[in-house]
Amino acid sequence: MKENGGRMTPARQALVRSLVASRGHVTADELAHEVAKDFPEVHLSTIYRTLDLLEEVGVIDHVHLGHGRAVYHLVGDTHRHLVCEICGTVIEVPEDTLDSFAGELQSKWGFTLKGNHFALIGMCAKCSENQENSQN
Ligand SMILES: [Zn+2]
Ligand SMILES: [Zn+2]
Ligand SMILES: [Zn+2]
Repeated sequence: MKENGGRMTPARQALVRSLVASRGHVTADELAHEVAKDFPEVHLSTIYRTLDLLEEVGVIDHVHLGHGRAVYHLVGDTHRHLVCEICGTVIEVPEDTLDSFAGELQSKWGFTLKGNHFALIGMCAKCSENQENSQN
């Protein structure tokens, strides 16, 4: 971290600790809330700046789970996300789940998919079942 120009202030360390403890899928607001327990003087804008900085130096990454809500991960946590738009369940799938789709986009359109930035939105098995039942 230091080599990359990021000054590791206690508040930043607390932020990273909260992120690790959360085991993924925390929003900036949730992280700010955690950090504020130890560092009540730290402003939300500082949290956002720190998240940007940690992202720039490649420590963390964010993913959108729908409607722009971004959650943070440590880099190296490479699963992909399926989000149910009915109940909001987040299903984590291995990163190679999208490989064949990504390969097709690449060969047909020369497009490189960044499958980690946005979740795939759909309906989970349970909600599909409920919907079928209510239709019958
Ligand atoms: Zn995740
Ligand atoms: Zn669902
Ligand atoms: Zn984004």
